Amino acid sequence: MVMLDFGAMVAQHQLRNGQFFAFEHPAGATSWSQPSLQALANDPRCFSVDFDQCQVCLRCPKTGKLIKKRTRLLSNAPLIKDIFAPLQCKCTSPHAHIEGSVNGMSLSVFCQHYPAEFCEKLAEAVQLTVRRVER
Ligand SMILES: [Zn+2]
Repeated sequence: MVMLDFGAMVAQHQLRNGQFFAFEHPAGATSWSQPSLQALANDPRCFSVDFDQCQVCLRCPKTGKLIKKRTRLLSNAPLIKDIFAPLQCKCTSPHAHIEGSVNGMSLSVFCQHYPAEFCEKLAEAVQLTVRRVER
Protein backbone atom coordinates (compact mmCIF):
# COMPACT_ATOMS: atom_id res chain seq x y z
CA MET A 1 0.00 0.00 0.00
CA VAL A 2 2.93 2.34 0.66
CA MET A 3 4.26 1.74 -2.88
CA LEU A 4 0.77 2.11 -4.35
CA ASP A 5 0.27 5.47 -2.60
CA PHE A 6 3.77 6.50 -3.66
CA GLY A 7 2.93 5.70 -7.30
CA ALA A 8 -0.26 7.74 -7.01
CA MET A 9 1.73 10.59 -5.46
CA VAL A 10 4.16 10.56 -8.40
CA ALA A 11 1.20 10.60 -10.81
CA GLN A 12 -0.28 13.63 -8.97
CA HIS A 13 3.09 15.35 -9.20
CA GLN A 14 3.13 14.74 -12.97
CA LEU A 15 -0.41 16.14 -13.30
CA ARG A 16 0.44 19.25 -11.27
CA ASN A 17 3.42 19.88 -13.56
CA GLY A 18 1.61 19.30 -16.85
CA GLN A 19 3.45 16.01 -17.45
CA PHE A 20 2.23 12.51 -18.26
CA PHE A 21 2.05 9.26 -16.31
CA ALA A 22 0.76 5.72 -16.70
CA PHE A 23 -0.09 3.62 -13.65
CA GLU A 24 -0.41 -0.14 -14.26
CA HIS A 25 -2.20 -2.59 -12.00
CA PRO A 26 -4.34 -5.74 -12.43
CA ALA A 27 -7.83 -4.69 -13.54
CA GLY A 28 -9.54 -6.72 -10.81
CA ALA A 29 -7.37 -5.54 -7.91
CA THR A 30 -9.29 -4.30 -4.88
CA SER A 31 -6.63 -1.60 -4.43
CA TRP A 32 -8.25 0.44 -7.20
CA SER A 33 -10.66 1.55 -4.47
CA GLN A 34 -7.83 3.12 -2.44
CA PRO A 35 -8.46 6.87 -1.95
CA SER A 36 -5.16 7.78 -3.66
CA LEU A 37 -6.12 5.89 -6.84
CA GLN A 38 -9.76 7.00 -6.69
CA ALA A 39 -8.59 10.63 -6.61
CA LEU A 40 -6.61 10.03 -9.81
CA ALA A 41 -9.39 8.05 -11.49
CA ASN A 42 -11.88 10.83 -10.73
CA ASP A 43 -9.63 13.55 -12.13
CA PRO A 44 -11.16 14.72 -15.45
CA ARG A 45 -7.69 14.76 -17.05
CA CYS A 46 -7.29 11.02 -16.40
CA PHE A 47 -8.82 7.87 -17.88
CA SER A 48 -8.34 4.16 -17.47
CA VAL A 49 -8.05 1.52 -20.16
CA ASP A 50 -8.30 -2.22 -19.59
CA PHE A 51 -6.54 -4.69 -21.85
CA ASP A 52 -5.60 -8.38 -21.88
CA GLN A 53 -1.95 -9.34 -21.54
CA CYS A 54 -2.42 -12.30 -23.90
CA GLN A 55 -2.40 -9.57 -26.56
CA VAL A 56 1.13 -8.58 -25.53
CA CYS A 57 2.29 -12.22 -25.50
CA LEU A 58 2.20 -13.01 -21.78
CA ARG A 59 2.86 -16.76 -21.90
CA CYS A 60 3.23 -19.57 -19.40
CA PRO A 61 6.96 -20.36 -19.48
CA LYS A 62 6.21 -24.07 -19.11
CA THR A 63 3.39 -24.67 -21.63
CA GLY A 64 3.78 -21.64 -23.90
CA LYS A 65 0.04 -21.02 -23.60
CA LEU A 66 -1.03 -17.39 -23.54
CA ILE A 67 -2.22 -15.93 -20.23
CA LYS A 68 -5.11 -13.47 -20.33
CA LYS A 69 -4.37 -11.35 -17.18
CA ARG A 70 -6.80 -8.45 -17.47
CA THR A 71 -4.77 -5.32 -16.75
CA ARG A 72 -5.64 -1.65 -16.26
CA LEU A 73 -3.64 1.43 -17.13
CA LEU A 74 -4.65 4.70 -15.48
CA SER A 75 -3.14 7.60 -17.37
CA ASN A 76 -3.50 11.11 -18.71
CA ALA A 77 -1.64 10.42 -21.99
CA PRO A 78 -4.23 9.91 -24.77
CA LEU A 79 -1.90 7.65 -26.78
CA ILE A 80 -2.00 5.10 -23.94
CA LYS A 81 -5.69 4.63 -24.71
CA ASP A 82 -5.10 4.58 -28.48
CA ILE A 83 -2.45 1.86 -28.19
CA PHE A 84 -3.87 -0.33 -25.40
CA ALA A 85 -7.66 -0.16 -25.97
CA PRO A 86 -7.48 -2.41 -29.07
CA LEU A 87 -5.62 -5.09 -27.08
CA GLN A 88 -8.71 -7.10 -26.13
CA CYS A 89 -8.54 -10.90 -26.07
CA LYS A 90 -9.31 -12.44 -29.45
CA CYS A 91 -7.82 -15.83 -28.59
CA THR A 92 -9.41 -18.95 -29.95
CA SER A 93 -7.28 -21.36 -27.87
CA PRO A 94 -7.67 -21.77 -24.11
CA HIS A 95 -5.42 -19.60 -21.91
CA ALA A 96 -3.08 -20.89 -19.22
CA HIS A 97 -4.39 -20.15 -15.72
CA ILE A 98 -2.30 -18.18 -13.27
CA GLU A 99 -1.84 -20.98 -10.73
CA GLY A 100 0.92 -23.29 -9.57
CA SER A 101 4.62 -22.77 -10.16
CA VAL A 102 7.22 -23.25 -12.89
CA ASN A 103 10.88 -23.91 -12.04
CA GLY A 104 10.30 -22.91 -8.41
CA MET A 105 8.63 -19.58 -9.27
CA SER A 106 4.91 -19.20 -8.72
CA LEU A 107 3.16 -18.32 -11.97
CA SER A 108 1.50 -15.33 -10.24
CA VAL A 109 4.97 -13.90 -9.48
CA PHE A 110 6.10 -14.66 -13.05
CA CYS A 111 3.07 -12.74 -14.35
CA GLN A 112 4.11 -9.64 -12.38
CA HIS A 113 6.94 -9.20 -14.89
CA TYR A 114 6.05 -7.27 -18.01
CA PRO A 115 6.27 -9.13 -21.32
CA ALA A 116 8.64 -7.46 -23.83
CA GLU A 117 5.72 -6.59 -26.10
CA PHE A 118 3.99 -4.70 -23.26
CA CYS A 119 7.20 -2.70 -22.67
CA GLU A 120 7.49 -1.98 -26.39
CA LYS A 121 3.91 -0.71 -26.59
CA LEU A 122 4.41 1.45 -23.51
CA ALA A 123 7.65 2.85 -24.98
CA GLU A 124 5.81 3.51 -28.26
CA ALA A 125 3.14 5.46 -26.36
CA VAL A 126 5.80 7.51 -24.58
CA GLN A 127 7.69 8.18 -27.80
CA LEU A 128 4.55 9.26 -29.70
CA THR A 129 3.40 11.40 -26.74
CA VAL A 130 6.76 13.19 -26.59
CA ARG A 131 6.67 13.79 -30.36
CA ARG A 132 3.13 15.18 -30.11
CA VAL A 133 4.09 17.52 -27.24
CA GLU A 134 7.20 18.76 -29.06
CA ARG A 135 5.21 19.90 -32.11
ZN1 LIG B 1 -6.54 -14.13 -24.98
